[in-house]
Amino acid sequence: MHIITQGVVLRSAQYSENDRMVTLLTPDRGLVEAIARGSRRPKSPLVAAVEPFCAGEYTLFAQGSRLSMQQCRVMENFYHLRFDVDRLTAAVYVSSLCEASAQPEEDCRSMFALLLKTLAYLENSDLPLPLLISAFEMRLMPILGYLPRMEACVLCGRPFQGGGRFDARLGGAVCPDCPSTAPEMTLEARRIIYKAPRTDYTRVDLLEDKPAWREAARLYRPFVSERIELPEKRIIPSPPED
Ligand SMILES: [Zn+2]
Repeated sequence: MHIITQGVVLRSAQYSENDRMVTLLTPDRGLVEAIARGSRRPKSPLVAAVEPFCAGEYTLFAQGSRLSMQQCRVMENFYHLRFDVDRLTAAVYVSSLCEASAQPEEDCRSMFALLLKTLAYLENSDLPLPLLISAFEMRLMPILGYLPRMEACVLCGRPFQGGGRFDARLGGAVCPDCPSTAPEMTLEARRIIYKAPRTDYTRVDLLEDKPAWREAARLYRPFVSERIELPEKRIIPSPPED
């Protein structure tokens, strides 16, 4: 049975002398693993299709529980990511977050769309990379069901003015009246974390003029790392410094 699906390569590993095992994120089937036979041969038509971050329309062949990659119509390969180690590290990080949180046979349309937009920015944008990474994190977590509670206190439940604190473990803002050792948060950073999942990724440039994005990014990172476990040895880009 043939399956035609859009997909983006999250990971590509040597499988045997001539074959690769490719992990794809697809919009409708979630995480998919497929063997790309012969793709390690230089003249294989799949050479481009198995490269990390390649996005396209993949034709897979299902045999029992195994999928093999038959062909791919490449739509975007984000080729220039490979020439800048910082951009590449960022792209590997955001792809790893997707791989660690997506499931097989799951609707991943929102994650898929977010990842493609983010990779395009990581490849071409002049915005600071930590900003692009953090904007991705702040949209990915709500897609996974982790929407930080920002409009009211996570401890007492009361709405409050000002910044307060951000408790990454409890997942939201803490008001000044509740005892907490969580890091303090300015009102600007609180607003950024609140608004991120409510605005499209492509509006990330609006944050460049708001210096609090750095603070928001630093506060938010532990909210991500407490909930998504990445494989050991994965290089994780540092959050921004002041
Ligand atoms: Zn409170």
